[in-house]
Amino acid sequence: MALASMFPRPATALEVVSRFHNMNAISSFIVNVAPTRVRSWHKKLCPSQVCSSRFFSVVKAKADEETAAKAAARTTDKSSPTIFDKIVKKEIPATIVYEDEKVLAFRDINPQAPVHVVLIPKDRDGLTQLSKSDPRHKDILGHLLYSVKVIADQEGLTDGYRVVINDGPNGCQSVYHLHLHILGGRQLKWPPG
Ligand code: AMP
Repeated sequence: MALASMFPRPATALEVVSRFHNMNAISSFIVNVAPTRVRSWHKKLCPSQVCSSRFFSVVKAKADEETAAKAAARTTDKSSPTIFDKIVKKEIPATIVYEDEKVLAFRDINPQAPVHVVLIPKDRDGLTQLSKSDPRHKDILGHLLYSVKVIADQEGLTDGYRVVINDGPNGCQSVYHLHLHILGGRQLKWPPG
């Protein structure tokens, strides 16, 4: 099937599927969480509700992280709520590992290390990305960083870990609600890609 007919809304498709690196994660996301138009598009292509390997490989080839990040930066209305708002409101499931009055941490749906936790401020308050922060955000930024230490202790990351903030298209940011990735549980390499 031609790519053009597989992607009625290429930017939406890229944005959605490129966050995941295996078929189960993509299928489960599309079936449970994706917007209605993406769900019905997927249902037509994959009637069994499970993404075929051809579907996955075509999408993966097309939707590498860089392309997806650029698509997200172009197409995302930065003022709209993101999928993370739905997690905060408990409208969609997530494996929450830490929560207090200001922040929430949950396991990344597409983990890049044995421990991969995403930490967010519950109230985005304009913090779509780090580069949009201003002096009023200093408290929450400090709170987030200290929460990393608490979560790393809780996760048993005694031999070290990495904290990553992807910012904007060049940083491969795909969700415009500030978040810190906490990665650990294996030897990480440097420099990153
Ligand atoms: P970034 O590319 O820095 O914007 O990171 C966004 C991260 O959010 C990616 O690592 C995704 O795998 C992760 N993610 C997206 N949706 C979910 C979800 N529903 N539950 C958990 N993690 C998610």
